[in-house]
Amino acid sequence: MLSLTALAQTKPKVVIVIADGIPADVIERLRPPAMQQIIKEGTYTRAHVGGNKGTYTETPTISAPGYNDMLTGTWGYKHNVWDNDNQHPNYNYPTIFRLFKTARPAGTTAIFSTWVENRKMLLGTGLPQTGNLAVDYVYDGFEKDTVRFPHDKASLYLHQIDDHVVNCADSVIRTKAPDLSWIYLEYTDDVGHSKGTGKEFDKAIGLLDAQMKKISDAIHYREANYKEKWLLVITTDHGRDSLTGSGHGDQSLRERTTWFILNKPVTNAYLKSAQPGIVDILPSVANYLNIDLPVAAKRELDGVPIIGPVSLSNARLGAAASRFTLKWKTFAPTEKLKVYITYTNHAKEGKPDSYKLIGTPLGGTQKFSYTAATLLKQPFYKVVIEGKNNTVNVWHVVKPTK
Ligand SMILES: [Zn+2]
Repeated sequence: MLSLTALAQTKPKVVIVIADGIPADVIERLRPPAMQQIIKEGTYTRAHVGGNKGTYTETPTISAPGYNDMLTGTWGYKHNVWDNDNQHPNYNYPTIFRLFKTARPAGTTAIFSTWVENRKMLLGTGLPQTGNLAVDYVYDGFEKDTVRFPHDKASLYLHQIDDHVVNCADSVIRTKAPDLSWIYLEYTDDVGHSKGTGKEFDKAIGLLDAQMKKISDAIHYREANYKEKWLLVITTDHGRDSLTGSGHGDQSLRERTTWFILNKPVTNAYLKSAQPGIVDILPSVANYLNIDLPVAAKRELDGVPIIGPVSLSNARLGAAASRFTLKWKTFAPTEKLKVYITYTNHAKEGKPDSYKLIGTPLGGTQKFSYTAATLLKQPFYKVVIEGKNNTVNVWHVVKPTK
């Protein structure tokens, strides 16, 4: 019992890093030494972005949509960020920063970022739509400071800014230990665009690796000296095209295939069974931080936790006339699930949907059929499967005929 008590007193902390635009094959070929050391103590997995290809969840393999997939645990059809410019995020799908602050108002958050819009637009700090979300430690906007970081043709200034935000993160982690931090680094994507995935790109990964060593060392320092346990998640927002590696945005395998590096070993059954998605980071981080997400948020999450216990994943819906068949993958065969339906999507406007319980199948059946006259001619409904450890959702969407 003593060890359990000690464990309960160990404060969980999370650092998420997005290093922009690095395909999985590059990380796997280079095996950068610092990242390799983190993997040795933790976990490496291939992952994906882009939603489910060819379905209503498909999302462009573009930077800002990728960041917002991670921040909201939903794909573009919900969070509504489709490009880097002219963004209109739907703040009714709350970010992990907002969910954390709501659950734990005294908890502290931090952002270290080479792109100020990550905070101002995607997190939406200080906006009424986000309940005036605040971030406690802010280090961003340096790309606007052309005196301190003059913009050179080779864009080395982006590397210098990345280095600067990493140094800030190093210092803040060591001295302030924020509960939830996001580090965003841009240089790798810039080199990718100008030089493709060749020697210059490999060099940029080397620079990134030194930065990751700094963050990992800061975390080791905290864990050695304080009653804290730190989860470090390093990932990317998209891969690159397979021809030269200079582009991205489409749905090719190399653009969709990303990776996660975690500093902790993971035994989660879902992670062992699938290539996770960037949307899985939010519920995983929530689990690690012991945050209970509101039911309404759980019912909209497109992610499945890769940390902690998991009930089910991969919900699919086959609908015809007054009947549908629902399928899923179980990780808890004896668990009784709850299946709900709603014909509205008020969640989009931040209002509640009224769900009706339509069945309680056992997890292990992995299949549930429902027949009701009300399904006839319904152009839209949402089905939610609630398990003990996580909730998944799937939509019935009839595409308008052109
Ligand atoms: Zn990007």
